[in-house]
Formats: sequence, C-alpha cells, structure tokens
Amino acid sequence: MKVRVYNFSAGPAVLPEEVLKEAAEEMLDYQGSGMSVMEMSHRSKTYDKIIKDAEADLRELMQIPDNYKVLFLQGGASSQFAMIPMNLMKNGVADYIVTGQWAKKAYQEASIYGKANKIASSEDETFSYIPDCSDLPISEDADYVYICENNTIYGTKFKTLPNTKGKPLVADVSSCFLSEPVDVSKYALIYGGVQKNIGPAGVVIVIIREDLITEEVLPGTPTMFKYKIHADNESLYNTPPAYGIYICGKVFKWLKKQGGLEAMKAYNEKKAKILYDFLDESSLFKGTVRKEDRSLMNVPFVTGSEELDAKFIKEATAAGFVNLKGHRSVGGMRASIYNAMPIEGVEKLVAFMKEFEKNNA
Ligand SMILES: *Cc1c(COP(=O)(O)O)cnc(C)c1O
Repeated sequence: MKVRVYNFSAGPAVLPEEVLKEAAEEMLDYQGSGMSVMEMSHRSKTYDKIIKDAEADLRELMQIPDNYKVLFLQGGASSQFAMIPMNLMKNGVADYIVTGQWAKKAYQEASIYGKANKIASSEDETFSYIPDCSDLPISEDADYVYICENNTIYGTKFKTLPNTKGKPLVADVSSCFLSEPVDVSKYALIYGGVQKNIGPAGVVIVIIREDLITEEVLPGTPTMFKYKIHADNESLYNTPPAYGIYICGKVFKWLKKQGGLEAMKAYNEKKAKILYDFLDESSLFKGTVRKEDRSLMNVPFVTGSEELDAKFIKEATAAGFVNLKGHRSVGGMRASIYNAMPIEGVEKLVAFMKEFEKNNA
C-alpha cells in the first residue's frame, strides 16, 4: 500500500490519520449496529448520540456559552453568504470588511439582499494585509459587521477583532476553525465550512447567539435557509450530512485528546514558525504577506520566478509534498498546515526547500 503523502491542500484538507483509521474500522459495523453510519437513520438512537456528543464536545472545546446555539448545516460555507443576510438583515444594512476572495463573495452575495457596505478592504495590495479596523465608519443602522477571520487564499489572519462599535460581529472562520482558543462571546455568529480543518466537505457549522434567531427573516427566505427551523429542530429538521458530522465528532474527540485548543495553538505556532523562519532567511523563497498579519494555517510563498515556482511544485510533488500550488488567483505556492498536519511534515518540507534552494542558486 502506498504511504500517505504530506498533503498541504487548502481544502478539502488533511485529517488526522487516527480518525480515518477509526472510521475505516467502523465502516461496515458501527459499534455493533450491523451497519455503517452512512446507512443509519438520522432519527435513530445511535445517530442521536453521535450528533449530541459532537455538539457537546465542540461546546467543551470552544467553551461555547449557553446562550449560543450550535447548528450543523449543509451547503458549505458559501451558502452562509446568503443565509446570513437573509436572517440577520433586519434593517437591510450590513458592513463588510473585504480582506480576500471569500469576504468579497460574501459581500457581493449580501448586496443581493440589502445594502452591503464595504467599509474596509486590502484589495489595493492583493489582500496581503489586514487593514486597521480600530476606527472604521460603522453604519449607524448596520445589522452586523462581517469579517473573514483567516483568509485561506492570501494567508492573512485578523490578530485583533475589528472594533464594531457595538454592532454584532459575524465571522467566517472556515480555515482557522479550532486552530486556537476563541472568545465566542465576542461574536454574534461564527461559522465555517468544515473541510479545511475539521472534516469532510458539505458540513457547515454555525454558532449563533440565541437572540439573533428569530421568525423575522427577509421575505422569500427558503425554509431551509432559516436559522430558526434548524435551531428548533436541533439540526435535524431534515436529513443532515450525517456521515460528515460523525467524522467531525471524531475530530473533536481527537482535539480533546491533543489537549484542546490551547495545546493546538502552541503546536500550530511551533509548526508555522519553522516555515516562516525559513522564508525570512531564504535567499530564494519569500513570504507574500505582511508579517504581523500572517496566518498560522495558510502560508503562501513565491520564488519570484514563475518557472522556478513550477519546477519547485513538480519536484515537491514527486517527493511526496503535494498540493503546494498557490490559488489560481495568486500563483506561487501555498502550504496549508492545518491542525492535522504533523510537525514532521513541515520540517521535511523546509528541508526539501533548502535543498531546492541550494540546487537552484
Ligand atoms: C473554502 C472557504 C469557503 C468556501 O467554502 P465552501 O464550503 O466551498 O462553500 C468560504 N470561506 C473560507 C474562508 C474558505 O476558506
């Protein structure tokens, strides 16, 4: 059997090997049920325990306050670009901070449903930094302020949350979900597609403060797009992405075993430092992001020559370091080093980069 590669994909991305092995063992017979979780009624007692345990473990990991609901939904992170304005735009106004393609898409989608204001952007420098958000022109009647907390494509992260001047904060955390502790109480709504750092594509987790879940939504909002219907039915209004949630639950247990989010943060910082330190001293490779805004999860870099970039990606792939090609909109390389990327993967990648640098001086 082929050895597993070091997979630096931005998403769907690497998952803990332990979790995959456990899922494989349970594939044909989940805990004596005689069937796979894939084949099981989402109304069964067995599945009810799976989804309830998943929620309880996530609550414990993130220390989610009791006045927040956890929803396991589907449609990926992109469906939230519409669901958020449909449910939260009571005044029909929202402020968006545009720090990358995902924030831009969310902003554009919100413009369909109401008045979306772009109150800050870093597009002038190819989204390579996070703008100063300490004193933005927050709209008087804004229903919320929206950020993409970690910009998967560009490799930037908000190190301090914007000053929303009392308005509810909504954050897309798809690519930094569970990578470090968060103070949930600072947000009105946190959401993320799970395929970056938690589980299989298709599941999106929404953590929303209860007072924001109301009957009052934009006219024409489909039933499936109402937070209330999912909250009232504990994510079982219709058939949820049951197998995906089961894998997420396993990853939550794995994270608890690693020591929780404090431990993950320390591990992720150590991992990212190895790569960033090398980029800072390398004569060939350069990071593309303002240092103070660097993401712990997505690390873009270039050689300065498209030809050398292509050569590097080709040779790295052959050596077992895969999916290092940068996003099609930026080029170069990007190493996504999510929770499940072992530190050896980064150490070996850096050793490989050093060798490549020597051979291409
Ligand atoms: C990948 C990604 C998305 C889109 O996720 P889908 O599940 O494909 O809709 C949105 N936001 C961020 C930050 C992402 O990284």
